Amino acid sequence: MMRDFIRNRLLPKVLKPARYLGTELNSIHKDWDRVDLKVVFAFPDVYEIGMSHLGLRILYHVVNKRPDTLMERVFAPWVDMEELLRQQNIPLFALESYKPVKEFDIVAFTLQYEMSFTNILNMLDLAGIPVRAGDRDESYPLVIAGGPCAYNPEPLADFIDAFVIGEGEEVFYEVLDVVKTAKQEKLSRTGLLERLAQVQGVYVPRFYDVDYKDDAAIAGIRPNNPNAPAKVTKRLVRNIDEADFPTSPIVPYLEVVHNRIMLEVLRGCSRGCRFCQAGMIYRPVREKSPETLLRQAEELVANTGYDEISLSSLSTADYSCVEETLKKLLDIYSGHGVNVSLPSLRADAFSIELAKEVQRVRRPTLTFAPEAGTQRLRDVINKGVTEEDLLAATGAAFKEGWTAVKLYFMIGLPTETEEDLRGIAELAGKVVALGQRELGAKAGRLKVTVSASSFVPKAHTPFQWEPQNDIDTLKEKQRFLAGLLKNRKIKFNWHDAELSFLEAVFSRGNRKVGRVLEAAWRRGCKFDSWNEQFSYDKWMAAFADVRLTPEAFACRRFGVEEVLPWDHIDAGVGKKFLAKEYEAALKGATTLDCRFDRCTGCGVCPNLGVDLDIKGREACGPV
Ligand code: SF4
Repeated sequence: MMRDFIRNRLLPKVLKPARYLGTELNSIHKDWDRVDLKVVFAFPDVYEIGMSHLGLRILYHVVNKRPDTLMERVFAPWVDMEELLRQQNIPLFALESYKPVKEFDIVAFTLQYEMSFTNILNMLDLAGIPVRAGDRDESYPLVIAGGPCAYNPEPLADFIDAFVIGEGEEVFYEVLDVVKTAKQEKLSRTGLLERLAQVQGVYVPRFYDVDYKDDAAIAGIRPNNPNAPAKVTKRLVRNIDEADFPTSPIVPYLEVVHNRIMLEVLRGCSRGCRFCQAGMIYRPVREKSPETLLRQAEELVANTGYDEISLSSLSTADYSCVEETLKKLLDIYSGHGVNVSLPSLRADAFSIELAKEVQRVRRPTLTFAPEAGTQRLRDVINKGVTEEDLLAATGAAFKEGWTAVKLYFMIGLPTETEEDLRGIAELAGKVVALGQRELGAKAGRLKVTVSASSFVPKAHTPFQWEPQNDIDTLKEKQRFLAGLLKNRKIKFNWHDAELSFLEAVFSRGNRKVGRVLEAAWRRGCKFDSWNEQFSYDKWMAAFADVRLTPEAFACRRFGVEEVLPWDHIDAGVGKKFLAKEYEAALKGATTLDCRFDRCTGCGVCPNLGVDLDIKGREACGPV
């Protein structure tokens, strides 16, 4: 039996065998003969990262809930396991049944990060599935992909049969129904794809032709099949309070990135930071009610045994019932050793009450993201946070006994000057001085971590047209900052400039960069987001192989009138709104949040026929 062979012969030889066991608590092992359709959720990175992904938990739950379908999991095998699989000629297998991935009806990838794209090709190859969609006939599974990177699907257009744009649990049942019927009717692959193209939110790249002006600029994108719409509009859950949410998630055997209950409190964020893709593509804001959260928390604690509940979302401190919900959860669980935590807080929404509540059980590190060093630049990016906010929040935290804070910044932002970089160091210096003053005798333990990532222009954001700084400029800025941040109390981290550069190439790339991806993979690139695996030289050789200039995608200012590679993907937020925001940014004008002020006309609500769903104080009930 393959399962025994893998477990007894291969797993003892690899690092972290628990990655490949598939027998965790709450994993679902369905009978293959009793379902009509088999889906494998494919995460293009290692188990520990994939298992921390909420989308996997949700889809695993909704697909397995259906009696006629099953979903299993597969993660990118680490290099040691891949070597053994290739040596032994064992095709990539799914964790629950150990069946080859090739035997499933659907292989569903999630696209969380551009630098995991080479792993997709590698996983398809390991599975014995042709990497190019055009080379697959009816005998191969349908390869689909969704997630945030699907909002610019073009770099992967040659490898994926169909993309799902928007929230998976909303559209997936329809996709399953279409594939199931097509299978029963023995429809051709083209016939199946034509039916899928008619489902709102499904993009089938082969049904679109792209005309180019030159390698990096597009003249137009048109459907070449009558079943394909000119624009593919995202799908979204209208009532997140009533949406399916898994309360029996799989509990891994080994330490994963988020080893805790992830209780999603809301979806979307309308703060409107101009660099942030999540803030645009997940609009509008939809909140869960406290009653729903308390019920889900109770089931999650009972079904998993975790000792921590993390209230997760893009901006949990903005949840309209956050304090009440937090208090109730702590009242119920803190006596039972279950901690409740909040992810990073915004300096302005920070409530010391909130922080004090959270530390009833354990004191987490506080993270603030001012993003830029001066008020001018914070206005350009629409961060809406002032120096006073940040100092008030960090000061209050130090007063309450916190000794470590993390500050997140971005370098290379549009309009950035030397003064803005100096501002980062000055702000960090002020936080250190404040900490030393407030902490008194405990000041010896003070630690301020400053992290500087590099700006990456992202599709569907007001900064989608902006160039990224070239690698040399980014490195020079990093060195400059390192020179300014010499204080012993400050730890300075920065992101790899080469990696950020490639992220920009793929976040703004068109179909042609898919050729680079394939060339890079053939040269051995995989696990590019892992330092020890990343090879910039191989990537540069891949660009040379296909004669493309990466700077043309990453470091070029795109014209506002230009056809963008993702213009046929409709995220609901209008291009005109993005252009208006871009213009406002360059003038340093800020835009308010529609949750707390009036509608700013981003277009998603009228375009998709949805509304903001804010539960509000009234709905929170007595504490
Ligand atoms: S359409 Fe208006 S209310 Fe709706 S998310 Fe956009 S700005 Fe907010």
